[in-house]
Amino acid sequence: GLIQRGMGAYQRIDHALSLPVEPSPTRAPTARARTRTPTGEPGRCSGQHQEAALALRDLSFGYTPDRPVLHSVSFTVPHRRQTALVGRSGAGKSTIFALIARFYEPDSGSLLFDGRPSTELSRAACRERIAVVDQSTHVVHGSLHDNITYAAPDATDAEVRRVVELAQLEEVVRRLPGGLSGMLGERGGTLSAGERQRVALARALLARPALLLLDEPTSHLDTINETALTTVMRDAAQECALLVIAHRLSTVQHADQIVVLESGRTAACGRHEDLLTTSPTYRRLAAGQMLRPADTTPLTHDD
Ligand code: ATP
Repeated sequence: GLIQRGMGAYQRIDHALSLPVEPSPTRAPTARARTRTPTGEPGRCSGQHQEAALALRDLSFGYTPDRPVLHSVSFTVPHRRQTALVGRSGAGKSTIFALIARFYEPDSGSLLFDGRPSTELSRAACRERIAVVDQSTHVVHGSLHDNITYAAPDATDAEVRRVVELAQLEEVVRRLPGGLSGMLGERGGTLSAGERQRVALARALLARPALLLLDEPTSHLDTINETALTTVMRDAAQECALLVIAHRLSTVQHADQIVVLESGRTAACGRHEDLLTTSPTYRRLAAGQMLRPADTTPLTHDD
């Protein structure tokens, strides 16, 4: 992926701006409301919610002028919802993340953060709203506590406890000699790949981002880590808007909304069951290797 610069650089650490966003009174998270996400409408994904944490409007972009990568991409990422982004390799998923984090500016179209065009906000102001967890998890030499507070060394014990719980790391804390403050093994070797991913999530959630961008691991996880990750995403989505590049069937099954990207275009948008019937592109993805069902084989070593 594109976003491999380590999270510290653009992780949100400004707690002054981290007050939780009030839930929209028009969108109570009831089961009924959650089933009413739009289905299979090509190129349009609930684009009318002005108050969404993030809206992409007719976004077009190419790294070079002669080769456009994104073509009029539109979708929204509502507060307190899980939005999954799926598409074949090269469809443009990482490019969308890079545009949201404003490593690049779109050629046309707009990005709106809480309804405000990104062009009215500084890059820093946009990034303050965002936390990114990519596939490379950076475990530093030190304790679990050091790793979680890496970008926010002044975090209080209560804040750390909150994200340990949110990231499903309590079992890990109990298991590690010295718990939260015991030193991790060489290069974090006492953590599995799935646990390292959750440490990265705890680190990101500590900043209370308005928007969490997660590039889900493509490496096979064991069942325990698979379930834990699903729980973390569900709980994280209670606190912020979650946009996840999804590679797992369990993730898309739990997502409130799935955006299907095909060759840089929004091909469809909806929930898993609906897209299976309405979107041939999605059906192909779900049937193929892009979205793998849970791997039940336990890992014997990392990655
Ligand atoms: P994957 O699942 O393999 O990560 P993706 O859906 O994230 O794929 P992108 O990485 O966004 O796709 O790539 C979209 C297109 O843009 C591809 O054709 C890719 O070759 C191209 N591309 C990506 N990054 C760059 C870059 N830095 N410079 C030029 N072209 C790029």
